[in-house]
Amino acid sequence: MAAKGFLTFPRMENPFRDTSARLQDFGDLHIPLSQAKRQLQASRCMNCGVPFCQSDFGCPLHNLIPEWNQLLEAGQEHAALIRLMKTAPFPEFTGRVCPALCEKACNLADDGVTNRDNELYLIETGFKNGWIRPAAPSRRSGCSVAIVGSGPSGLAAADLLNRLGHTVTVFERADRPGGLLMYGIPNMKLPKDIVMRRIDLMQQSGITFCLNIEASASLCSEFDAVLLCSGARTPRSLHLPNDHLPGVLYAVDFLSEVTRSLLDHQTPPSTVTDSVKGKSVIVVGGGDTGNDCVGTVLRLGAAQVTQLEMMPKPPVSRLPANPWPEWPRTLRTDYGQLESLSVTGHDPRIYETTVKSIHPDKNGVLNAVETVRLKQTDKRFEPFPGTEQRLPCDLLLIAAGFTGCDQATAHAFSLVPDSRGRLAGENGLHYLGGNLFSAGDARTGQSLVVRALADGRACAAAVHDWLSGRKI
Ligand SMILES: Cc1cc2nc3c(=O)[nH]c(=O)nc-3n(C[C@H](O)[C@H](O)[C@H](O)COP(=O)(O)OP(=O)(O)OC[C@H]3O[C@@H](n4cnc5c(N)ncnc54)[C@H](O)[C@@H]3O)c2cc1C
Ligand code: SF4
Repeated sequence: MAAKGFLTFPRMENPFRDTSARLQDFGDLHIPLSQAKRQLQASRCMNCGVPFCQSDFGCPLHNLIPEWNQLLEAGQEHAALIRLMKTAPFPEFTGRVCPALCEKACNLADDGVTNRDNELYLIETGFKNGWIRPAAPSRRSGCSVAIVGSGPSGLAAADLLNRLGHTVTVFERADRPGGLLMYGIPNMKLPKDIVMRRIDLMQQSGITFCLNIEASASLCSEFDAVLLCSGARTPRSLHLPNDHLPGVLYAVDFLSEVTRSLLDHQTPPSTVTDSVKGKSVIVVGGGDTGNDCVGTVLRLGAAQVTQLEMMPKPPVSRLPANPWPEWPRTLRTDYGQLESLSVTGHDPRIYETTVKSIHPDKNGVLNAVETVRLKQTDKRFEPFPGTEQRLPCDLLLIAAGFTGCDQATAHAFSLVPDSRGRLAGENGLHYLGGNLFSAGDARTGQSLVVRALADGRACAAAVHDWLSGRKI
């Protein structure tokens, strides 16, 4: 093994498709590297004595990263994939959407190994070669488990509990499974046929999916155990007059509508394109969801897009208070922002700014917002008087995060969320009492796909222990 490839080969991620081409469609953003180039990238891994990539600073799933990188470098792709899938339930999702905490925790620091792209290469090679087969257990335990919600945490829990022999039924209120993997993360980041490919496999493995169902407490008497994997989908509102005008939308509602229409009709709905094409769009929220909105409205032909962020512009490199191997709180420019730079010549983000008021025209149609600069005093943000600015706005997308768990589910199961809006048991555990458990964003608050997967698996292990009559 070379184990010194990093001295010779520079880090190389899967390149983006050309901006002008990718703005014409909602197809995958990236072009995969060749097998030979991917092997060279794997050879950059040093197989460290202390692999920070798989520590708590790095991968929440504790993926066996150095092991599969070495096998990939040696051309043993099948063996590498088996090591990867020991801990990673759905590498085709994390290989596309994970922010790759492991790469930032890598001992190569800013030059970390391209673990996410290597993972994606392995799983797609596995699918291409027919190595990924349904995983039905050899015998059933006789226990039944209901899972409420088919997002990453629900899917990961369903996968593991099914492998352990329990009979699993997943209940989902939406018309398609996947949670935010389906209706949230845009198609160009995670194509929806990739989500459905996994759901098909899970069905072939013996898991039942019931769609368009609003789960209720009756499940507790019908199943031996019930897992609430219902997400943290209560959006943070602007709490401003006029925030319910037509043209003021929550980001997830907007992104879902675009995806649903792409799937149903292969084209975005005219109701949406009409509200975006040639129009001025303002996105409140400078995070990943806001970036997804920027990329989506540019594909729909927005004339102008501005993204407002409350926080100050992050530094370009790490501050002393944020050393390696912590996640770097530095400036990141994601695909939507890059696309905006390419189309308009400027970064869509305006920092330390929010919307102060929302203004309709004389017909009651949204046509402007007033923004204001913010100054931070202790931990609060205060408006800076005299910095108000009126901006034209035909569509206002609110991507300001989520305040807590799904309220309808909490109500249906007579649960009271904790002070941070989470459905968690005593001491934050998965076990809620009776035969009820929770996992994913519902238990932890809004997070990441990889964390929801890890939490779904941890919850499945707790349920298995409980069903087996052991102490949780
Ligand atoms: C727009 C957007 C983009 C994102 N992009 C990324 C990204 O690129 N990378 C990343 O790592 N993370 C990303 N995230 C975060 C990530 O998607 C979430 O952390 C993750 O999906 C949480 O998984 P979950 O299973 O806990 O919940 P969810 O994915 O929210 O799934 C919960 C499911 O439960 C269903 N449900 C709720 N209550 C009921 C009920 N009573 N009956 C039936 N069904 C019910 C809901 O319909 C939903 O389908 C993004 C989030 C958003 C909003
Ligand atoms: S820390 Fe980086 S170089 Fe070391 S084992 Fe992990 S991926 Fe490889």
